Amino acid sequence: MYCKKCKDPGSLTIRKEHVYCLNCFMTNINHKFRACIGKNKILSSSEKVLVCLTGGQSSTVLLDLINNGLLQDNHKKLRISPVFLHLTGFGEKEMDHKVAELVINQCNSYKFSVYIVNINKFYFQKSNTLPDVNSLSETTTDCELKTKLQNVLSKMTPTSSNDIETKIKHDTFRRVAKECQCNFIFTAETTTTLAVNLLSNLAIGRGSQVEHDIGFLDNRDEIKILRPMKDITEEELHHYIQIKNLTHLSNVKIKENSLQSVIKNFVWDLQENFPATVSTVCKTADKIGTIEKTNITCLVCKSCLALKNEKLTAIEATNFSRTVSNFQPGQYLNNEPIKSSAECDTSMFPFINKYFCYCCSKNYLESGHQNLNLFKDISLS
Ligand SMILES: [Zn+2]
Ligand SMILES: [Zn+2]
Repeated sequence: MYCKKCKDPGSLTIRKEHVYCLNCFMTNINHKFRACIGKNKILSSSEKVLVCLTGGQSSTVLLDLINNGLLQDNHKKLRISPVFLHLTGFGEKEMDHKVAELVINQCNSYKFSVYIVNINKFYFQKSNTLPDVNSLSETTTDCELKTKLQNVLSKMTPTSSNDIETKIKHDTFRRVAKECQCNFIFTAETTTTLAVNLLSNLAIGRGSQVEHDIGFLDNRDEIKILRPMKDITEEELHHYIQIKNLTHLSNVKIKENSLQSVIKNFVWDLQENFPATVSTVCKTADKIGTIEKTNITCLVCKSCLALKNEKLTAIEATNFSRTVSNFQPGQYLNNEPIKSSAECDTSMFPFINKYFCYCCSKNYLESGHQNLNLFKDISLS
C-alpha cells in the first residue's frame, strides 16, 4: 500500500480507499482548511475572528490548524487575528469546569488566551461584560439562572430543545463577537456534523435555511459565521488527533430521543459503511440556494420569512396532514380545502411569517410563549 500523493509506503487509509503517509495526510488536512478559507475570499488581512471552542475533537483540531497557519511564513501565513471563546453552563457543573480547564490549557500550550463565558450569565442577564481571559470564575453557574434555561427547555420536546439551544448559542457567539469587535466567527463543524445538521434541518422545517446553516458562510447577521472545517470528516479528525496526540474533552451533547439524535446515528452508520455518501450529502447542500427572498426576517434566527404563496413547505405539509386526520371515515380529499400558509391557524403557529419563521414559531409555542430573550422586542399581544 503506497501513499497516493508521494508513493512512499502509506500508513493510513481514508474512506476505505485512499492511502496516505502521515506527512501527506497532515498536509492534506491543513490544505483543506486553508483552501476553504482562501477560496471564499471573505476575510481581509489581519481580520479579527472570534474562534468558538468546545474542547471536543473538531474544536481541538481547529485550534491546532489555526496555530499551524499563524506559524507559516510570508505568503503561506494565515492572516487573521484570532480571539478565543469557550462557553460554559450547559452540562453538569463539575464536567463544565473540567472542560473549561482543558480549553484554557489547550490555548496556553499555543500561547493563546481564551474567554470562558457562562452562557446563562451572558445570555439571560445580558451582562455584556466579558470576564478576564483564562479565568474560570464563570464556570460556577448561578443556580437561579441555570434553572431558567433548563426549565424552559424541559417543557419542550427534545427536538425543539436541541434546536433552540443551537440558536441561543449562535446568538451568544454574535454578542460576544460584538463585544470583542470581531466581524467574523469561526465554528468547528465537520462534514459529518453538517450532514447531520442538513438532514435535521429538513426534518424540523428549516429546509429553506439550509444555505446558511450548512454552508461555509452564514451572513444572516452583520456578524458572519464561517465554517472552515466543513470539508474535513470525523474520520480524518480522528486520525489527526491520534497523530498529533492531542487531548480533547467535551460536554456538548444532543438530547436523546430527538430527531437530531436519530439522524446522527443514521449518518454515523452511513459514514462507517458507505463513507463517500456523507460528503455527497453536503456537496448537494452547497448547491441549494434560496429561490426568492423577502425583506422581512425572523426575529430569532434572522432567516427570510416565507412568501405568502410558497408551496411545498413544512407548514403546507402540517396543514395537509391536519386536514386529513380530521376526516371522518369515508370522507375523501376531493372537496376539502387545504389551508395555505397565508391563512393558517395562528394559535398553532403564533406570529408565523410576521415575526417568526415556521420552526421558531413552533418553538415559541412549545416554550409556553416564554420570552427566552430570543423573542426580543415584540410586544406579545
Ligand atoms: Zn505521502
Ligand atoms: Zn426563525
